[in-house]
Amino acid sequence: MPRYDFRCRSCGATFELRRTMAQANDPAVCPEGHADTVKLLSTVAVTGTAGGGAAAAPAPSGGGGGCCGGGCCG
Ligand SMILES: [Zn+2]
Repeated sequence: MPRYDFRCRSCGATFELRRTMAQANDPAVCPEGHADTVKLLSTVAVTGTAGGGAAAAPAPSGGGGGCCGGGCCG
């Protein structure tokens, strides 16, 4: 279940609630009981977008196997 951060505009407290996405836009009540709250944009950690490394590069074929590797060509 995703967590949503809220901030109370009455007392300035920030708090987070676990709720379903269907309830994401429902009004939240601050722990102090204030109803004047706003939902903050949740910070989602995005990692691994660049990838990188040599894993994706094809390895150069360095001989072996085939015809010209075993001496049948020369
Ligand atoms: Zn409050």
